[in-house]
Amino acid sequence: MPFSLTRSEALQRRAESLLAGGVDSPVRAFRAVGGHPPFVISAEGAYLTDADGNRYIDLFGSWGPMLFGHAFAPAVEAIQQAATRSASFGASTPAEAELAELVQRCVPSMEKMRFVSSGTEACMSAIRLARGFTERPFVIKFEGCYHGHADALLVKAGSGVATFGIPGSAGVPNETAMHTLALPYNDLAAVEAAFAAHPGQIACIILEPVVGNAGTIAPAEGFLRGLREITRREGALLIFDEVMTGFRLAAGGAQEHFGFTTPELKPDLTTLGKIVGGGLPVGVFGGRAEIMDKLAPLGPVYQAGTLSGNPLAMAAGIATLGYLLLNKATIYPQLERTTAAITDGLARIAEEAAVPLTINRVGSMFTCFFTSESVTDFDGAATSDTARFGHFHRAMLERGVWLPPSQYEAAFVSTAIGEAEIAAILAAAHEAFSAL
Ligand code: PMP
Repeated sequence: MPFSLTRSEALQRRAESLLAGGVDSPVRAFRAVGGHPPFVISAEGAYLTDADGNRYIDLFGSWGPMLFGHAFAPAVEAIQQAATRSASFGASTPAEAELAELVQRCVPSMEKMRFVSSGTEACMSAIRLARGFTERPFVIKFEGCYHGHADALLVKAGSGVATFGIPGSAGVPNETAMHTLALPYNDLAAVEAAFAAHPGQIACIILEPVVGNAGTIAPAEGFLRGLREITRREGALLIFDEVMTGFRLAAGGAQEHFGFTTPELKPDLTTLGKIVGGGLPVGVFGGRAEIMDKLAPLGPVYQAGTLSGNPLAMAAGIATLGYLLLNKATIYPQLERTTAAITDGLARIAEEAAVPLTINRVGSMFTCFFTSESVTDFDGAATSDTARFGHFHRAMLERGVWLPPSQYEAAFVSTAIGEAEIAAILAAAHEAFSAL
């Protein structure tokens, strides 16, 4: 049967008449890669099924959360059971401390934490807290890093902002963004210069310890350690945004992966999202107790949420992290093997087809950049031929493999992807590269 999206196209027209751009999050609209987005009806394990009955191997995993594939039985059961006890109380429940304990077992630097409903809220709140704690106004972020869509963090923000070539965002007054210093990733000299230019004024550095939102970019040797040393020396806080890397690169995220677990190296604050909610809307921020105790009701930094610590989300998170903690000895080596098999295969096939390609991979995150340059920062990622990426994306989709629909996003591999799926991905890539 030839590939068809007839039903999805009809659903798209209906969506466009009611939802801005037909979507609730911009990159879903497939503008960057062309063609119509399939409308998903259901998913199980490694596979998504759309409204036309097409099946796809999922290589974006809801943009990260679905570490164990879709409809993961322990999470489904936990959500069902929690739902029978009511979806929300707006009052404290035992599940919040239960999930917090599991988060802390994974990420011990989070001495205290608070649950919110998205990664955006986690990062926005962590920044406010860092400013409140240090009583300083400036924030350093890096070009191509995305920390959610809070006003002050949309400067050179990667992800959909880069996908659509938006330099910042309309609607953010200069006064709001003027305390955000956006520096090139992997450039310690730029960080030193910023601290020299704003002595005693920089509250924190926030970064993705492995970038996913400019495509996958690893920190250069010494970069994270340099940031830790500079922030400590300058009395600024170091915030690891592990919304993507948390529970993905290791149970303890990038901070475990890179050995940033010692008292000298651990970040002051960490933000989490995605996997911690098992697919339900959850974010968390946390870190040193003396900083977290500045939050209301103990301290002067305000932060709140009607649905924060939502019982269904907590139940899904407990089921997910409970499974992860029991099985981490096998999960991460498996993800490493699976993802390496995919990226090694893609590199070989691209070379045979004479397609210039730079593949960056860290654990189960990877990106195929359509460039022959090495990619170590946003400017490197921007040398990619995004039109060619779009053709590749479409060709893969038509062959049953759904990659993230933007050059500036990481692909995410789940434990549901096995030998059969690896073979199918590489077979599709063989045809797709030949067709380029
Ligand atoms: N930080 C990072 C590193 C992210 O990748 C994202 C989302 N992709 C966010 C923050 C924002 O999370 P959310 O979309 O849940 O608001």
